[in-house]
Amino acid sequence: MTHINSNYNEETVLTVHHWTDTLFTFTTTRDSGFRFTNGQFIMIGLPVNGKPLLRAYSIVSPNYEEDMEFFSIKVQDGPLTSRLQHLKVGDKIICGRKATGTLVIDNLLPGKHLYLLGTGTGLAPFMSIIRDPAVYERFEKVILCHGVRTVAELAYADLIKNKLPNDEFLGEQISRQLIYYPTVTREAFHHQGRLNDLLDSGKLSQDVGLPPFSVADDRVMLCGSPALVSGLRELLAKHHFTEGNMGEPGHFVVERAFVEK
Ligand SMILES: Cc1cc2nc3c(=O)[nH]c(=O)nc-3n(C[C@H](O)[C@H](O)[C@H](O)COP(=O)(O)OP(=O)(O)OC[C@H]3O[C@@H](n4cnc5c(N)ncnc54)[C@H](O)[C@@H]3O)c2cc1C
Repeated sequence: MTHINSNYNEETVLTVHHWTDTLFTFTTTRDSGFRFTNGQFIMIGLPVNGKPLLRAYSIVSPNYEEDMEFFSIKVQDGPLTSRLQHLKVGDKIICGRKATGTLVIDNLLPGKHLYLLGTGTGLAPFMSIIRDPAVYERFEKVILCHGVRTVAELAYADLIKNKLPNDEFLGEQISRQLIYYPTVTREAFHHQGRLNDLLDSGKLSQDVGLPPFSVADDRVMLCGSPALVSGLRELLAKHHFTEGNMGEPGHFVVERAFVEK
């Protein structure tokens, strides 16, 4: 690890995995002094024309792991990801030293059920949250919902369904308390449709065997497209949910998975 300046570390790429033409995952080394809360994001990037080109990225890996993992889109003409998608093992990336973000459990009021609603790469922050032991102390059930267009975009499905329930430390809690609810919009699949509609119609709670959605027991974290976020905000307001943020916990918290330019 090299300090580029006081705001950034340089980390080395350890693995790269391409899920589809538009999605990939990579892991990097982690500076031993870098701390974050599960669910937060940092700025990462590459030097372009001698200057750091940085974008916000949620950290997929939980904060007790030695390495860091990221889940990325590939935007063909995107300033960063047109380059980032060609990362190879051994390449260097620039990482901000300060993590931030609203998707942390301390921003939520106590409740029974934690719904994690993510679309596309909006799954990323929830991958660290579902591996946080504190989440299972605080909530009876954690419902991880991932909305995508095609089945191939259900990244991490094998890890969530098959590996985490057998995890040496968290396996027992995960088997009892984590419910995985993948849903696909443009192909046949056992759960189909948009997360907003599934929540609004009551089908989501029914499918996972939980009582109808209510502000008394349910808490929500959202991470998706700007359209999903605004639709769900409206829906949650209708159910009398208040939005939490740093210093003021609420019934739900929100992060946009990306910004429309
Ligand atoms: C808080 C926060 C956390 C983020 N976490 C992640 C993450 O974990 N993984 C990730 O891939 N991106 C994430 N992003 C988006 C990321 O910061 C960049 O936008 C993305 O890497 C593309 O960069 P770019 O320079 O290639 O294109 P940009 O110029 O940044 O984006 C170009 C266009 O591509 C589309 N786009 C960008 N990102 C996405 C995306 N993730 N999914 C679908 N469409 C997109 C949008 O239409 C955008 O206008 C996050 C953004 C925010 C605000």
